[in-house]
Amino acid sequence: MAIKLEKIKDERKKNKLLFLIKGTDEVFANTLRRLIIEEVPTLAVEDVEIKENSSALYDEMLALRLGLIPIKTDLKSYELKDKCKCAGAGCAKCELKLTLKVGKKGYVYAEDAHSADPECTFVYPKMPITKLLAKQKVDLSMTAVLGQGKAHAKWSPGWAFYKREPSFKIEGKVADAEKIVNACPLGIFEPRGSSVAINKDKLYDCHECLQCVELDKNITFEETGNFIFTLESWGQLTCKEILNQSADIFLAKIEEMESLI
Ligand SMILES: [Zn+2]
Repeated sequence: MAIKLEKIKDERKKNKLLFLIKGTDEVFANTLRRLIIEEVPTLAVEDVEIKENSSALYDEMLALRLGLIPIKTDLKSYELKDKCKCAGAGCAKCELKLTLKVGKKGYVYAEDAHSADPECTFVYPKMPITKLLAKQKVDLSMTAVLGQGKAHAKWSPGWAFYKREPSFKIEGKVADAEKIVNACPLGIFEPRGSSVAINKDKLYDCHECLQCVELDKNITFEETGNFIFTLESWGQLTCKEILNQSADIFLAKIEEMESLI
């Protein structure tokens, strides 16, 4: 069994990657999805020490928001706490210190925080944290650690899902081309001569509502057996880093299993 991945669309600005998985079954596609969501580690704020918080948001709410802000993650420099040489005590290899001190009226943004590691800062500078009125202030320090999505969703590197690849066949001509074109909510069919043709770029969006098949007997639908996989990163890692990491984790798990047999 040879598994092949084929890139469909790489939207770097949106941190989104679409690819085709060929030559395997749903078990593999789902394993990849779960490895991405639950196993690939990222940095997230875990402890917050609040020295002052006179904003409208109470301390717990503020800490929750800070935990959910994505942090650019450099996986070469950080280690999971339970695998670190310090044995969980906390050191520069498994903890990242950040501070946030604002005493100015207006919004407090992610960019106002200062990270001890310039390579690992909050990803989106204009993400609002809270809002201050005159004379209000926030002053806090944070500790971010590497973690995995299976412990808390804040450590998930992104969103991953897949669906089966659809395929349509048009035999001969369709009776009413205009009706077919208008029936598809995604515009997969386009008029060609007196019949219709398939727009391949839009075919990946197909929800399989199969209105086209109901309207005309000459249109048949089948699934190719391939999977369309969508990966959207929250920004801590690039899509490529997420995929590489998930492959490494997969191999490590297989090796672990082999050693146990
Ligand atoms: Zn450590």
